[in-house]
Amino acid sequence: MDDVVIAGGGPAGALAALILARAGARVRVFERARFPRHKLCGDTLNPGALAVLSRHLDTADLLASSDDIHGMLITGPGGVAVRATYGAGMTGRAVTRRVLDAWLLRQTCEAGAQVEEGVAVKGAQVASGRIHGITVARRGGGDARHDSRLVIAADGRRSTLAFARGLAHQPVRPRRWAIGGYFTGVAGCGAVGEMHVRKGHYIGIAPVPGGLTNVCVVMPHAAGDQPFGAPRDLMRRRLDADPALRDRFTNARAEGEPVMLGPMAVDSTAAGEPGLLLAGDAAGFIDPMTGDGLRLALAGAELAAAVALEVLAGRLSPETAHLELTRRRQAAFAAKWRFNRTLRSLVTSPQGVSAAAVAARVVPSLFEAVIRYAGDCGQVPADHLRRGYGGQDAERGSRGV
Ligand SMILES: Cc1cc2nc3c(=O)[nH]c(=O)nc-3n(C[C@H](O)[C@H](O)[C@H](O)COP(=O)(O)OP(=O)(O)OC[C@H]3O[C@@H](n4cnc5c(N)ncnc54)[C@H](O)[C@@H]3O)c2cc1C
Repeated sequence: MDDVVIAGGGPAGALAALILARAGARVRVFERARFPRHKLCGDTLNPGALAVLSRHLDTADLLASSDDIHGMLITGPGGVAVRATYGAGMTGRAVTRRVLDAWLLRQTCEAGAQVEEGVAVKGAQVASGRIHGITVARRGGGDARHDSRLVIAADGRRSTLAFARGLAHQPVRPRRWAIGGYFTGVAGCGAVGEMHVRKGHYIGIAPVPGGLTNVCVVMPHAAGDQPFGAPRDLMRRRLDADPALRDRFTNARAEGEPVMLGPMAVDSTAAGEPGLLLAGDAAGFIDPMTGDGLRLALAGAELAAAVALEVLAGRLSPETAHLELTRRRQAAFAAKWRFNRTLRSLVTSPQGVSAAAVAARVVPSLFEAVIRYAGDCGQVPADHLRRGYGGQDAERGSRGV
């Protein structure tokens, strides 16, 4: 029997497995895809995410296959623009998820974890009120059971385990979709991530290695709205209609078909249950606009691995470990979640976007601080942000753990 089985070999699952394997645990990762694989993402690691990776790994190879990101450019309606660097010695990286995730999972294998790619986790094994393992879809057909002392669900935003166990759900609002793809020939890109916030949608742009530019359009879509249509056309229409961006895309060529996903937001009610711990997006996802999903996923993996090791050492009970993980996640992330929800509610409302555009003209330093805090470089209290754009509060009824 394994000590820990992990669903998902993305950044959260891979890092949790690496930490556990290095500490001597028998750990097995089941990953549905075969790596390298594409994953829709803005492809930027913020300075905080890079710092987490550097705590565990020699990042030289990763640095060689990624580019510097020195900060962010945020633009709003009416031509307002704020650019800020992360600060002295602070840098993020631009790297495709195809490269990043494969690199990380390789390190996990080298650390001694068993990694089974192309194997989907289907559900949890439950007995006497706690989880004792998982069921996977066998490669040749049929199901197989894997028992373990603990299970970590790191299977992403639409986590099979978290949804099946009633720990995660998609909130009624916001319901926003992302369309992401790559272009060549985009003019005017520098070594910064870009966030172009408009009334009703936003567009993230980042230069990635190989002369490519990653473009993500995020927009709402409610039940009863017109069908989206082809993602490629939708993205092109948004770019062509944007006065600040259309000229930069005049000679741009789409590379491959864009990918669409949504609704994006996922709320969770607990960071696990007896025998099960959640890590990464499986424990909830707020919005991609802050560009800190990978930092939260990696730091959440550290927390889940630390709690799991305490269970294996007999210092924590497997029955209550998820409560301890919930407490530690709250302590580590609650301020950032509030900040992220505040920004999400801001860009959801046209009035919020207008108020923010005014604030950006009057107090650009506020947005410079926002960029650094979003990049996990330092601290901006969430109430400072709320005061800065006119007191609009973070969304109510939206939760995370
Ligand atoms: C449009 C968009 C742009 C983003 N841009 C950025 C950005 O620029 N910077 C940033 O830091 N964050 C960004 N994020 C967030 C970031 O992508 C996530 O926070 C991050 O991928 C979370 O990592 P994870 O390991 O928890 O999940 P994932 O990366 O989703 O990995 C989960 C893994 O589990 C596997 N899996 C799923 N189901 C099963 C199953 N049943 N059995 C076995 N395996 C399974 C999947 O194949 C996948 O490999 C963005 C997100 C979106 C939607």
